[in-house]
Parts: sequence; C-alpha cells; structure tokens
Amino acid sequence: MSSKRILANDGIDDSGKALLENAGFFVETNKASEGHLIQTLNDGAFDVLFVRSATKVTAAVLDACPGLKLIGRAGVGLDNIDLNAAKSHGIKVINTPAASSQSVAELVLAHLFSGVRYLQDSNYKMRTEGHEKFASLKKKYGSGIELRGKTLGIIGFGRIGQALARMAAGMGMNVIATDPFITEATIKVEIAVNNTSIPVTIKTVPMQDVLMLSDFISLHVPGKVNGKAIIGEHEIAMMKPGIGLVNAARGGVIDEDALLHALDTGKVGFAGLDVFENEPTPRVDLLHHPAISVSPHIGAATAEAQERIGIELAEQAIEFFAA
Ligand code: NAD
Repeated sequence: MSSKRILANDGIDDSGKALLENAGFFVETNKASEGHLIQTLNDGAFDVLFVRSATKVTAAVLDACPGLKLIGRAGVGLDNIDLNAAKSHGIKVINTPAASSQSVAELVLAHLFSGVRYLQDSNYKMRTEGHEKFASLKKKYGSGIELRGKTLGIIGFGRIGQALARMAAGMGMNVIATDPFITEATIKVEIAVNNTSIPVTIKTVPMQDVLMLSDFISLHVPGKVNGKAIIGEHEIAMMKPGIGLVNAARGGVIDEDALLHALDTGKVGFAGLDVFENEPTPRVDLLHHPAISVSPHIGAATAEAQERIGIELAEQAIEFFAA
C-alpha cells in the first residue's frame, strides 16, 4: 500500500480517485490557485501533481517543490508543463494519450453534421426569430447536403484521426488521410448491432491529394509546424469550393485570418472549431461568424473519456510507485 499524496489540482474522475484511494494514496481535489500552488504543494507534502490543461506547471513551480516525484496530465497535450524543468529535477511526467480519442472524433462529426445543415446558425436564429420568420428561415437553411458518400480528408492519422476514420467509414463516407509518419493503418469499423467489426486498411496519400479531393477536412496533428499554420491561404486555394473544415487539434493549425477570408468569399462553406489561437479569449469575429460551429475546447469533455482518463492516470501512478 502506498501512502503517497496526490494533488489533483484540476480534479479527477471518481473512478480514478477510488482506485488510488483503494491503493492507499491520499487524493486532494481542492484547487490551489496559480499564486498558491507552490505553497499548497509544499505545505501538503504532495508527491504527485495531477493537472488537466488549466494548471500551469512552470519551471518556477518545479524548482520550488523538491518533494514532487510525478506529474500527471489528464489528457493529451503537455504544453502546460515545462518538460525540460521536470526532466532536470528527475520528475516523471505521464499523460493519457488514448483515452479521449473517441470523444474528440464524435465532436468532429457533430461539427460536420452541424455545418452541412446550418445548425450552428439555425439554432441561434430559430430561438430569436423562429416564431415570426419560420418560412424565410426554412428557405435560408433549405439547401443542406448529406455526409454519406462524401470524401472526408484527415490530416494527421494518429489516434484521433483513426478514430474519426472508423466512425466516418461506418457512416458511408469515403475517407482519405495524410500523415508524414504513417503509410497505412487498419481501422476496425464497428457494427455494434451484431457485435462485429470490419477491418479496413487506409493507405495515406500526399497532403496535396487531401487538400484537392476532400469535401471536408479535419485536422488531427500535434500542433503548428515551426510556429506556422498547416492550413493557410495557399492550402485553402487548392481545396474544392464550399469545403467544410474542422479543427479540434490545436488553436492556430488553421490560420484564422485565412479562414475568415475564405468563409466570406464562400471558398470555405463552413468550419467547426473546438480550439482557438488565443484561448481562453478567442477572437470575437470567429465566434460570431454564422458559418462557424464553435465549442470551447470540449473534445475530451465526456463522461466516458473522463472516466478512462482518471483510471489510466491512477493505474500509471500506482505502477510508478510500485516499481
Ligand atoms: P497522435 O500523436 O496520435 O496523432 C497525431 C498524428 O499527426 C501523428 O500520427 C503524426 O505523425 C501526425 N502529424 C504530425 N505532423 C503532421 C503534419 N504536419 N501533417 C500531417 N500529420 C502530421 O495524436 P492524437 O491523440 O490523435 O491527437 C491529435 C491532436 O488532438 C493533438 O493536437 C491533441 O492535442 C489534440 N486533442 C484535442 C482535444 C480536444 O479537446 N479538442 C483532445 C485531445 C487531443
């Protein structure tokens, strides 16, 4: 039994907490503010700090807290943790890369379904004008299209890209993907009705093919490349007119100026954005655009993903101290 102490500063799902407590860990979930984090960690003699994206684990925090042995990031991205400082202090950093893939993929589909039927705008307009202008709104949103039979291009064919491919293929979409490090992947299209799955191998294609052949493109890359967006004016110019773009990866992998311009000219038909360049204060013209379906970085925010994340973190922490 471990008697280690964990500060889960951005919370942890109950199932993960229970696993840890059963293994003898003490788990504190009262949040310490940025200004009080160092004092809380030292006064509480914490061995472990768990964070989501909100708490920043800076070099200053790591320098000032010699008792820390393990940092756990509940989620994928490690950009809020100073990895160099952690390494120099011999503090191990763990995360839960696979736990949220399905949830992010489903949110991408939600944005796609929204975009092809104008739901992001009609939800809003029906609320304010639907009782008076029903007929004109019916006409305004009356030229939707179906997803089935269309080509979905996936940029970044890792965990989330493949989870999305699985769902999209199951819906009858054609899926193409590009990834500089993956030449092919076999996805399992699940048919829950009779508890079976169909393996489908997708060979990746050059980026240019995804840009030119897709009706919709979704990005699932780690981030910008050398500080530059992956989709900018040049890439948008190569796309089919009216394309739908989704970004649930990292803010700025689609250039926001280029996107707004292309939406206004009609080159891009709609966009779905879960992430923004300037989080947590995204630009208002993006938020207000009628052809953009927006969500506040909630890709992993489902009960199932949070439960998997909590359990995965707990199991890794238990294993770390058992070693
Ligand atoms: P992953 O590492 O499994 O896959 C990323 C893939 O992108 C890799 O296969 C890599 O080879 C590929 N790649 C790298 N550079 C590329 C490029 N220039 N062009 C094309 N492909 C490239 O990661 P993942 O788990 O699938 O996560 C993908 C992204 O989703 C990350 O940015 C992550 O931070 C983000 N994410 C967002 C949310 C959310 O809440 N919206 C939740 C989880 C993860």
